[in-house]
Amino acid sequence: MTWRRHLHSHPEVGFEEFATTQFVIDTLAEMGIEASRPGSTGAVADIAGGRPGPTVAVRADIDALPVQEESEIDYRSVNPGRMHACGHDGHTAIVLGLAGVLSKEREKLPGRVRLLFQPAEEKPPGGAQALIKAGALEGVSHVIGLHLWSELPTGTAGIAPGPLMANADEFSVTIIGRGGHGSAPQQAIDSIVLAAQYVMALQTIVSRRVDPLKPAVVSVGTIHGGFTFNVIAPETTVTGTVRSFDAGTRDLIEAEMERIVKAVCAQAGAEYRYEFRRGYPAVVNDPEVTEIFTRSAQSILGRDAVVQHPPVMGGEDFAYYAQVVPSAFLFLGARNPDKGANYPHHHPRFNIDEDALPIGVEVLRRAVYDLLAKAGS
Ligand code: MN
Repeated sequence: MTWRRHLHSHPEVGFEEFATTQFVIDTLAEMGIEASRPGSTGAVADIAGGRPGPTVAVRADIDALPVQEESEIDYRSVNPGRMHACGHDGHTAIVLGLAGVLSKEREKLPGRVRLLFQPAEEKPPGGAQALIKAGALEGVSHVIGLHLWSELPTGTAGIAPGPLMANADEFSVTIIGRGGHGSAPQQAIDSIVLAAQYVMALQTIVSRRVDPLKPAVVSVGTIHGGFTFNVIAPETTVTGTVRSFDAGTRDLIEAEMERIVKAVCAQAGAEYRYEFRRGYPAVVNDPEVTEIFTRSAQSILGRDAVVQHPPVMGGEDFAYYAQVVPSAFLFLGARNPDKGANYPHHHPRFNIDEDALPIGVEVLRRAVYDLLAKAGS
């Protein structure tokens, strides 16, 4: 709790987690654990067990968000415009707690546990890919991770095999018409009218093109075009986000979005620029690792406290680990309205129930032993 509050007071955003990284390295050093620093921020540390066996990795993301905290708690952020508004301070504290426990029982640990303190989860391209490139998964048989979850009550958890979090992509479409006088539309190609048609036509992708049994979202976030009331806008740019779970749906939406802008522009003689930027891929939980992780969580929380969680439309760069080795990600309940821990993630008043922290340590500890036993058999 002290660690978490220290981190909460001193949030740093992605790739700027210098003090956070130092705090992690120093805290591990006090436990007799040596950590390395594969990038400018973030840390990796191994706890070698007293018995031979496989290596299992546990991931914590350490970054905060560019949010101004509005809570009145006495450990609120001292860094203006920076806040741990997603609970990553808790993730870091939980994995430090796990390090503390495991370092005291090294002798009986049948293998090796690698701790990944990953930077920049909130800032695409994210910190996971760089860690993987730096060799953080070499020799690792499985990766597990958890996310404190403000929609699940403390003492419960949610997990499911297969896709758990979405492909999170971004688009920017510019419609290039021809400017002119607002009173003389016949001389111009109005990019605003075309953008309006485009936004409406996009609504048919999810409703008419995507398989109804496959979840998807196409949301327009911004429209920018025009100068003033009596000028026809030569260019209008539409940006937004696309979410999906399977690769086929993702490809389909990317192609349909361009097909539609092409058609909308063709009817009016306009041109376009189309950009579809792929963000984090879907987090896909390995069925076998998920089953073990579920049982580990059940043994700590009780059978009924671990629910089969429906997929969520948010993105997570934990996905990249899961693409390399069989992995699983779990949502750990941290909701408690009595303590003000009931705001959505990324809200300026977001907070977690700190009672979830020791639970997180126990769940991960149990899962580490269960996975080492499985991978070693
Ligand atoms: Mn997060």
